Amino acid sequence: MQLEGLDSKSMLDRIYPGQVCSIARSLEAVGERWSLLIVRDAFLGSSRFSEFQRSLGIARNVLTQRLGHLVAEGVLEHREDGAYVLTRKGRELAPALHQLMKWGDRHYPLPEGPPRLTLHRGCGGRVEGDMVCERCGEHVRSGEIEVTLGPGLASTAAG
Ligand SMILES: [Zn+2]
Repeated sequence: MQLEGLDSKSMLDRIYPGQVCSIARSLEAVGERWSLLIVRDAFLGSSRFSEFQRSLGIARNVLTQRLGHLVAEGVLEHREDGAYVLTRKGRELAPALHQLMKWGDRHYPLPEGPPRLTLHRGCGGRVEGDMVCERCGEHVRSGEIEVTLGPGLASTAAG
């Protein structure tokens, strides 16, 4: 995709021009390759171009394009100091990302165990895909989730 297409919503830029579907419309915003992983990294604390690049290992021009698109969609805000931070709209993707993670844990498990765990902040219980804490049984809001390294990443990550 060309950079000059970033701000336009022309039919040529759309991934699913024939679809009248809110899933398709959401994917137009965040469904490009790497986009949801950028959002994931933003949730995990990345805010600098260099941090996203180090985490994802993608070409600078691709990262520039994806960040620009996420800003244009109002998922990320590009602040004057250069930081990319999630907007409220972006933070609302937390349950969808959590569901994708749990789906992946279930259907594409690692032998070592899940790469990351989602815990109920202040309680420590694991939060399952239905956003219910397995320890206290409460429905957990996305802002109450704490992400920690699971056995699948702890064995490979330095920390
Ligand atoms: Zn709990």
